[in-house]
Amino acid sequence: MELISSQNSPFECILFDLDDTLYDGEIGIHGFLKKNIEDFLSIKCKVSPEKAFSLRSEFFCSHGSSLAALLALGYDIHPDEYHSYVHGKLPYELIQPDTSLLHLLRSIHQTKILFTNSDREHAKKALMRLGIDENIFERIICFETLNPHLFSEDPLSPNMDQIVVLKPSPSAFHAAIRISGYDPHRMLFVDDSEKNVVAGKSLGLNTALVGKKVMKCEDADYLLEGIMNLREEVPEIWKMNNWSTTSVRA
Ligand SMILES: [Mg+2]
Repeated sequence: MELISSQNSPFECILFDLDDTLYDGEIGIHGFLKKNIEDFLSIKCKVSPEKAFSLRSEFFCSHGSSLAALLALGYDIHPDEYHSYVHGKLPYELIQPDTSLLHLLRSIHQTKILFTNSDREHAKKALMRLGIDENIFERIICFETLNPHLFSEDPLSPNMDQIVVLKPSPSAFHAAIRISGYDPHRMLFVDDSEKNVVAGKSLGLNTALVGKKVMKCEDADYLLEGIMNLREEVPEIWKMNNWSTTSVRA
């Protein structure tokens, strides 16, 4: 791979989170997701809806996700079973086509990579609803990319300290940086989670935190009310205007 020769823009690659970043978290998808996870926990763990509500919160704090906690606790669950349940029933129609976002992404000539904890099917559906061709991204780094061991017949490496790899774990960021092939100092990571931004910053990424309620985050180089604020808050993305002659990648 030949690195892009950039004299103006500090960024050669931009990592975009998906959920609550490329579309507004206030449309309510997340509430449905939480409810679906609680229903799944209620069935699998044979607990009441009230207990499932507290378990989901406990699992998120202890393991980063309910799936990670269930696997760590020894439940025999395939990730596809979990994802098809918790994402399969989501009201995707709440995600509306966003031509402004499409134009914004098209105007960014650096390497664009989607970096999400969600599974590939969810990413495809959400992008389709947004009216974004997934091929606008050079890569989609998703649950399956970060966790190939969960889809293989090979036993888990005894050296692996995590059963499930997700942001904000350093392993997830190391994978994304390795896959992208860029120096993290020449990458911009855009995400709505402060935990993720803190983790990304600690590994050398430039960071932009997205969210209407975000007032301050020392590890965020940029604070964005929404993804569309990227143009005014991070104009250096567009500084370079001769990408067509210099952005040569093998
Ligand atoms: Mg997110």
